[in-house]
Amino acid sequence: MSFFDFLNASVTPHHTAQNLAARFTGAGFVELQEASPWAPGCGNSYFIRRGAALFAFRTPVKFSPDSRFRLASAHTDFPALRITPNPDKTVAGIHLLHPEVYGGALLNTWLDRDLGYAGLLAFERGGKVGTKLFRGGTLCRIPELAVHFNRTVNSDGLKLNAQEHLNACFAAAGAPDFEQILRRELAAGETLLDFDVQFFDAQPAAVGGANGEWIYSGRLDNLSSCDALAEGLLQAGPASTDICGACFFDSEEIGSGTRDGAAGNFLRSSLERIFAGLGGDPLLLPGVLSHSLLISADMAHAEHPSYTEKSEPNHAPLLGKGIVLKTNAQKRYASEAVANARFKQLCAQAEVPFQTFVMRNDMPCGSTVGPLLSATLGIPAVDAGEPMLSMHSIREMTAAADHDGMIRLSAKFFEL
Ligand code: ZN
Repeated sequence: MSFFDFLNASVTPHHTAQNLAARFTGAGFVELQEASPWAPGCGNSYFIRRGAALFAFRTPVKFSPDSRFRLASAHTDFPALRITPNPDKTVAGIHLLHPEVYGGALLNTWLDRDLGYAGLLAFERGGKVGTKLFRGGTLCRIPELAVHFNRTVNSDGLKLNAQEHLNACFAAAGAPDFEQILRRELAAGETLLDFDVQFFDAQPAAVGGANGEWIYSGRLDNLSSCDALAEGLLQAGPASTDICGACFFDSEEIGSGTRDGAAGNFLRSSLERIFAGLGGDPLLLPGVLSHSLLISADMAHAEHPSYTEKSEPNHAPLLGKGIVLKTNAQKRYASEAVANARFKQLCAQAEVPFQTFVMRNDMPCGSTVGPLLSATLGIPAVDAGEPMLSMHSIREMTAAADHDGMIRLSAKFFEL
């Protein structure tokens, strides 16, 4: 699956995980079930799924006391508008769908866009509950108020009330309610019981820039890192002695505190089972993790040409000029000196340039799953990612050269 196909098809975290699973399956990775016993042999490739999270890994050709973990993480979710359980409203002759904001979305960018909807349906069939992913066929839209009713919008900025101003036009009044529309996605004998559905930007990803140097797309944060880690793990063969894995978590944009988020036990329990399955003494696992490395891959802020004052002058990454190593004194990023040193070695080996990012002291710093994983697993970690503009907009922008660099870096990390 090409990067653009992956971007266009991964319209919800469930779809991201599904597309990652298809890519790993297509490359010969074997799916393990959490509820079944595992016997992971040496020199094999596997993946495990939980909710909208997925952990793919390769076992070493030979497991030994010197075996370590080489891990990388990314997230399958992105800021979005999720459709509420009872979304239907009719106002001004229009059937509206009422959403709930998921994550730190840049809300104004959701106005006047062609919005699709997609997600997961939970249904009953013969007394059992099943699930199905779907993508609806209707384009919806959240219309912005005309400038004639908001004369100061350009000088004062747009003020949105998330409760009042984000209802999406679904149909002219009189259409069936949303749940009835969803039922059409099910087969005969299936009864809809619940759904997890969100709006997404229906415009496909595009190449931009006079030299084709940029990528414009929704969901680049963090599908770009998901694609790079998956591609790197697929390109790299089995490592000689190390266990190499890429973990893709849901819920990063809402703090990770879910069973398929980084604060859940998905990765820890998987590592324990893999280590024991290969014959490792469980008591030695913390020591092995303390000598391992995690790359927390997430997007980084490039310097904005219209707001250069927002960047720390000596730590302002540029689009297309290399992977960004993110550090923060308050440890909003996990990066620490020894892990950073190993990251810089890796960049040199992969011949990928790097840049450094530090937030200004007078502005709060964002975060990633890196500090959480590093603290709970006891693994040294580095936070790094591609520079981008318009982070958390419905349509973001990154550089093709940096995405290629992230793939090369990831492949080198997993093959060394
Ligand atoms: Zn992110």
